[in-house]
Amino acid sequence: MVRENEIRQNEVSVTPPAPTDAGLTFIGVISTPWTSRMETPRQGRHDGPLCRIEIYEPWVAALKGVEVFERLEILYWLHQSRRDLVLQSPASNGEVHGTFSLRSPVRPNPIGTSIVKLEGVEGNVLLVRGLDCLDSTPLIDLKPDRTLFKPIAPPQPGDYQTDVNAP
Ligand code: SAM
Repeated sequence: MVRENEIRQNEVSVTPPAPTDAGLTFIGVISTPWTSRMETPRQGRHDGPLCRIEIYEPWVAALKGVEVFERLEILYWLHQSRRDLVLQSPASNGEVHGTFSLRSPVRPNPIGTSIVKLEGVEGNVLLVRGLDCLDSTPLIDLKPDRTLFKPIAPPQPGDYQTDVNAP
């Protein structure tokens, strides 16, 4: 079940340390059809509804070239999430799992990621399918799907480094 912000049986919350400022800046905003966490998909799908990603100035020039990628990786800030649970019960049945073994939106830094299908670019707006966030979710970053991206910069020694002990 999806939560609003309640704590469930056997879940454990902690008192998080005071936040440090990583200098994060929201570069845009995502528009989706969902205004309730109870209706939002748990994971987006590429045949799902068309969503809109608006990029703010001064970042619009950074969109140059994105249109060649069929898929993009989107990072967003799940701004309505609580951030203090270390054990969670996704099924609300008393069975708990560590936060880092889940893709739950409830995490110390509530970053969501999705691979979306790029349907179009209209100025500072990307039209995509495959999101699973609430309307008005802040945008942190976007980049090409890593399986489509070939590094443009020359290789570095670490690119060839292997470990004899690696399986
Ligand atoms: N695809 C991302 C991932 O794997 O990192 C997010 C997955 S998370 C399970 C998706 C759920 O987060 C949605 O079903 C909804 O319940 C919740 N959610 C979506 N947008 C949110 C927001 N802005 N604030 C808090 N919770 C949100």
